[in-house]
Amino acid sequence: MTDNLPLEGRGVVVTGGSRGIGAAVVRLAVEQGADVVFGYRHGEERARALAKELNDAHPGRRCVPLYADVADAGEAGRFATEALAALDRLDVLVNNAGVTRDTLFARMTAQQWNEVIDTNLGSMYNVTRPLVLPMAKQGRGAIVNLTSYSGVHGIPGQTAYSASKAGIAGFTKALAKEIGGRGVTVNAVAPGLIETDMTDAVPGDKAEYLKSLIPSRSFGSPEDVAHLVCYLASDRARYITGQVIEIAGGLVL
Ligand code: NDP
Repeated sequence: MTDNLPLEGRGVVVTGGSRGIGAAVVRLAVEQGADVVFGYRHGEERARALAKELNDAHPGRRCVPLYADVADAGEAGRFATEALAALDRLDVLVNNAGVTRDTLFARMTAQQWNEVIDTNLGSMYNVTRPLVLPMAKQGRGAIVNLTSYSGVHGIPGQTAYSASKAGIAGFTKALAKEIGGRGVTVNAVAPGLIETDMTDAVPGDKAEYLKSLIPSRSFGSPEDVAHLVCYLASDRARYITGQVIEIAGGLVL
């Protein structure tokens, strides 16, 4: 590891890397020296364009996009197997893929509830389960899970999402205790409001109200979150585990 390249030579897997926070993590990890395999579901074109851009800019490093629906255990298992085959070694897993289906709880359909839980929380099992043993056997690794301010504090209109993200926090703390002795850290990052397609869906007046609750009156950028994720993925954070770290610009809801 050098100061400029804290992820030099590391093998990194990122779910949901085709856009938003995941794409920013993929980009920064490659810039910091890693070989990266990342998943996409609907965004094949964007994923291939991102990989091409990064492979062209960083010859000698590998950036490989793979199709994966992380809500499906079989698909996620195939993704994990292909990711391991594409990398020389696995050091870091970033569980980033996630969805919202915001609506008042009284109006929420079972389908909306299940989509959110299966994607956000189910993926923690589906993707982490096949990848945790290779890291534990190696005696070193870092898992970084994307939870949310909503999972820590609860946001009205997001009962399913808050439940899924609170589940991720519990999963993170329990797994950290299980595998800390094998040299693997497990942490979660809890962003507040970050400018991506996910927050683009928030209606204008609500977005303005939310900004008024943030001291800087602005949403964060995907890069803000990527820097925290890549820090937690690096040896610099080797003594941090089982934590849920908010990155919310001082948001108080
Ligand atoms: P976006 O909506 O911008 O992107 C979501 C990503 O997840 C896409 O790459 C998408 O892939 C992927 N994805 C969604 N469903 C699946 C699936 N079933 N299988 C595989 N990939 C899937 O989200 P953000 O970048 O904003 O969010 C990233 C993470 O950060 C999420 O977990 C989110 O909950 C969390 N977060 C975001 C906040 C924000 O303000 N933006 C705040 C707090 C947490 P594709 O496009 O290829 O289908």
